[in-house]
Amino acid sequence: MKDQLPNRFSFRISVAVSLIFLILFFTLSGLGIHQLHKATAEVKTMVFSGNGVSEFFPLHEDQGTAFDKEEGVEIHSSDIIHNMHMVVFRILSGFICLGISVFFAVLAFFLERYRLRMSLLEVSRGMQIIQQGNFSYRIHGTVIYGAEDLSRAFDEMAATLERSDKARKTLVEIQIRHNTQWIREVRRRQKALALHKQRLEEKVAARTQVLESINTALRSSVRALERRTLEITQLNRLAESLQNAKDTRDAASLVVRTCQQIFPSDAGILALSDTKGHMDFIVGWGRDRPDIKNCMGEACPRKKSAGDRVSVCGAGVDGCEELCIPVNPREGKGAMMRIRLRQMADLYGRKQAARRALAGSVAGHLTACLTSLHLVDRLRREAVTDPLTGLYNRRYMEETFVRELSRMKRDNLPLSVILMDVDDFKIFNDTHGHDIGDLVLQNLAGILKKDVRTEDVACRYGGEEFLLLLPGLFAEDGLIRAETLRKRVASSPLIIEGKEPLAITLSLGIASWPDDAATSHELITAADKAMYAAKLSGRNRVCRAASVDLDSGI
Ligand code: GH3
Ligand code: MG
Ligand code: MG
Repeated sequence: MKDQLPNRFSFRISVAVSLIFLILFFTLSGLGIHQLHKATAEVKTMVFSGNGVSEFFPLHEDQGTAFDKEEGVEIHSSDIIHNMHMVVFRILSGFICLGISVFFAVLAFFLERYRLRMSLLEVSRGMQIIQQGNFSYRIHGTVIYGAEDLSRAFDEMAATLERSDKARKTLVEIQIRHNTQWIREVRRRQKALALHKQRLEEKVAARTQVLESINTALRSSVRALERRTLEITQLNRLAESLQNAKDTRDAASLVVRTCQQIFPSDAGILALSDTKGHMDFIVGWGRDRPDIKNCMGEACPRKKSAGDRVSVCGAGVDGCEELCIPVNPREGKGAMMRIRLRQMADLYGRKQAARRALAGSVAGHLTACLTSLHLVDRLRREAVTDPLTGLYNRRYMEETFVRELSRMKRDNLPLSVILMDVDDFKIFNDTHGHDIGDLVLQNLAGILKKDVRTEDVACRYGGEEFLLLLPGLFAEDGLIRAETLRKRVASSPLIIEGKEPLAITLSLGIASWPDDAATSHELITAADKAMYAAKLSGRNRVCRAASVDLDSGI
């Protein structure tokens, strides 16, 4: 654009031309005014010369002359007209020159204005270039006429900007370098952090795994404890219910019911022994119950001890373990438990050994219960039986008598009672000794036991006196039974090796309800009196209450 600008020469020429014409204007105007002044003076001279104006005017060439006394020259009207023409000519020329001068001045003004505008445009363009970031752009102010200061200021500004841009770039470079370093550092630290994080995560994962395994172990422990608690509760319940067990069969059923809960996925069997050691009551639970009949118990050759009471007698079907648990109470007959235990941790994660121990505990409870039942049974028996003969004692008989009598009365059935006494037993004792006397009494008790029916009650009434309670038996039948008994005792001497047979005789008295008395006490009294009558009649005989005088006893 700078090349397109009108050069200063045009401006200067225009200004010079304008000035020249202005000078011309002033010159011509001055000459015109001078000419006018001269012409005016000539006219005045002409007028005041006396030639009269009328002659002078209209001014025609050669129409008039006048003499100028001051100048001493003759003035002709033609000169005046010439002068007037010159005045007009010069003034007109002056104004033409002024017009030309003004024209060139205006031209110079517009040229400069145009140039100035173009310069400003150049500055504006420069501004745009600078704005675009090209700070090396310069206008070179000297070239731009009329806007030098502006262009210089622009260039200075551009230079300053360039410098600051450089500085900025340097700063930015430094910043970038710094940032790059920083980014490197950050990356390095990020890597370190990532590594650290990875290690931490690995540690956390390892710890989590450890914690999870601990947690799993704890959970299984809690489960095992819960299960153990449940088992203890069930064992306690079993112990409580076993306390209320009516008999050994009831106890065995309770044990099997508990085993069903404690070993739901296993099978087992429990057999009670009878007095002869045979299995008389067998109960069990689960499917594929083990065979107990062929169980050799203690004599089993495959038996392997597996803790308290429990023995493993080899593997059963499906890899099951056959447990053999003998139940040996301190009193009475025991039992045999056999459990087919699955060879694995069961639903509750219990170990096989714990399960065996549990089975042992169950058997322990059963052992205690059987001991207790047998003990109670023995005590009860002892409480109601006579230790020497094993027959019921008098207290039991009295209780039973009242109960049986009321039952007979309710059923409208008869009841007979036989009271018997060994004849001359004092003499027997004195002759053979008290111990032999005891043996004789035991022999008599054995005969009585054999002789009685299940519903009869034979008891030792006291010393060498015995009583038979015969519910449902009429006096006549009772009489026959008494007679039979008398004969059997008389003909069943006690045989002791190296000694003569030791025979005794009995005197028996019989009384019956409803014939002889109304109450048990009255019946015993009646029987006693009848027996007394038998003694009096010569011993070794049977007397019926109805046949004797109860008051006299004869
Ligand atoms: P009676 O024919 O009149 O009955 O004569 P008795 O000698 O049998 O009668 P008594 O009442 O005079 O004697 C009873 C004897 O029974 C006295 C006692 O030594 C004996 N006796 C009682 N209880 C036992 C016992 O448990 N064992 C032994 N060996 N003798 C007993
Ligand atoms: Mg007696
Ligand atoms: Mg006697």
